[in-house]
Amino acid sequence: MIKYNLKCTNEHEFESWFSSSDEFDKLSKKNLLECIYCSCKKIEKSIMAPSISGSMNKKQELMETNIKNFEDKKNVLLQLRRYIENNFEYVGKDFSKRVREVYYDKKSNKAIYGTATSKEKEELSEEGIDLISIPWINKDN
Ligand SMILES: [Zn+2]
Repeated sequence: MIKYNLKCTNEHEFESWFSSSDEFDKLSKKNLLECIYCSCKKIEKSIMAPSISGSMNKKQELMETNIKNFEDKKNVLLQLRRYIENNFEYVGKDFSKRVREVYYDKKSNKAIYGTATSKEKEELSEEGIDLISIPWINKDN
């Protein structure tokens, strides 16, 4: 089972479970997906917030970038995204695996980002690995 954050053209966001990502594509192509709020059939997957991990310095810098510019939220998020893309290595769905490698290898202080499920995040935090989740916005909207 896989959970997606979905969004309709009217900006309603909701979550839904699918047996696989193929199932989502199939239902989507056949217009069988429907917004739970307005019954609109134009449904897209919305971007999942990636999680990041890295040295304290990197996190600190990140938070400062965030705070300095908070008047313009969209701008901040774009800057945040750019900053992460330039300074962190993208590891995608391997995030929870890679974050453990970094964490248990004390010499390594690699800054990485990627996606993790809420269960993975829970497990990581039980191991004492703290993460930051940030909203991820598209560059072109
Ligand atoms: Zn809707």
